[in-house]
Formats: sequence, structure tokens, C-alpha cells
Amino acid sequence: MSEKRMPVLFIGHGSPMNAIEENEFSQTWQTLGEALPYPKAILSISAHWETPSTQVTGMAAPKTIHDFYGFPRELNEMQYPAPGSPELAKRVIQLLGSERVSTDQRWGLDHGTWSVLARMYPQADIPVVQLSLGQTREGQFHYDLGKELLSLRDEGVLILGSGNVVHNLGMADPGGEAFPWAIEFDQQVKECIEKKDHHPLIHFQQMGRSALLSINSAEHYLPLLYILALQQPDEEVTFYCEKIFWGSLSMRCVQFG
Ligand code: ZN
Repeated sequence: MSEKRMPVLFIGHGSPMNAIEENEFSQTWQTLGEALPYPKAILSISAHWETPSTQVTGMAAPKTIHDFYGFPRELNEMQYPAPGSPELAKRVIQLLGSERVSTDQRWGLDHGTWSVLARMYPQADIPVVQLSLGQTREGQFHYDLGKELLSLRDEGVLILGSGNVVHNLGMADPGGEAFPWAIEFDQQVKECIEKKDHHPLIHFQQMGRSALLSINSAEHYLPLLYILALQQPDEEVTFYCEKIFWGSLSMRCVQFG
């Protein structure tokens, strides 16, 4: 191994406004970008790209996708002109197998990726590739794919999961107190991660009512499973932004290594 193993990161991204707002979340992401070893490339698994089967972006210049409505013009016009990396896309296919993942030439960078990276790496000079969420809610599928990506960590690639541990927009209450079920599930996730007990987190459907309310549509939770799968036995965990926003969005971030 010629390089130090890159950390892996799950970011609770919350509102797209974090891309342009100075707040405790965006400032933490900025600090993380400054503190982590500088990556050669980034592989992002975003809650906002679901496809029937797994895909990886293969274009040299991914476009900035504004996949949201009702936000200020500044956000709608924001660009994150990071290059892509057809080489990294090929490497991902090599690791996961061409029967499990194919190349995409149409997507780009959705806000799950760029709202975070605009704060972590504002200069947009690191190549970014996205891996989609193949549309199954079976946690084991996503966890198993994540495991296969391990060698990228030794090749200078930062693997980023972007979603939210607790994400129930239907119950979101701007300015409201955190719901008890949101606090409970967020804490359960924290405890399982601290104990390196991934099994219940993979089988989240069996974690009870708090889990079902917290993961009501799963796509914001699933990127966490890729990151958990990449934790090595000797690695400690660090949490950031341990806060529930709008009552039903956990902003928790998780770093291994
Ligand atoms: Zn989101």
C-alpha cells in the first residue's frame, strides 16, 4: 500500500440551502474539507440519484443538476464545475463487475453531491463521480456493494455518502422541536455504529416504529450503508452535526478513519 487509507464520510445534507448559507452544518463541512487528506477523486453516493439498476457517471464534465424547487435564484444558478473521471468510473465497474453496474452519460452532479462539495471543496478541482442507488430498499444489497469499493480508499479516493439518517419530509416542521421518534432512531443508529453492530442497521425494516418513520422512503438512509460497509475493524468513528433539523431531519455526519 503506497498511500495512507482515505477516511470515508457520510454527510447529512438536509436543505440545499446549506450550499450557500453560513450555518453550523456548512461550516462543519468546510472544516472537514480542510482537515481531511486531499483526495485524488471523489466517489459520491447521493440520495438523489435512484436508478433501476446501479450506474456510475462516466462523463468527463458532469453538469450541475438543480433537482429542487422553490429555492432562491442564487441556488438555481449555482454551478459546481468539478471535472468527472472516466478512469474512476472504469475502476468502479472493474471492482463491482459489469454485470452489477453500468456507465451513465446523462446524469451529472445532483444537489446531494454538490451542495456538500461546494462547501468542502469550493475550488471544484477534484474529479467527482457519482454512483447511483439501484432501486431496491434491501439494505444488504447496498452494504455488499459498498464493501467492494474498499480498495478505492487506498487509491486516494474519498468515498462520500450523502443523505440523512432520519429523513421524513412529510412530517417536517420548520422551526419545530425534534420528534421523539427522530431522536430515538438517530440515537439507535449512533449506538449501533459505536458498537460496530451493523446488522440491525442493514436490516432497518426490523428496527421498529421509530425506524419506519425515520426511513419512510429509504433513499436518504441507504448511502449510509455504503459508508458503514467500508469501516475497517481498527477504525474509530467520529460524529459531527448531531442535530435534528425541522423536527424530522437528522443532520448527523459520520467519519471512519
Ligand atoms: Zn436530500
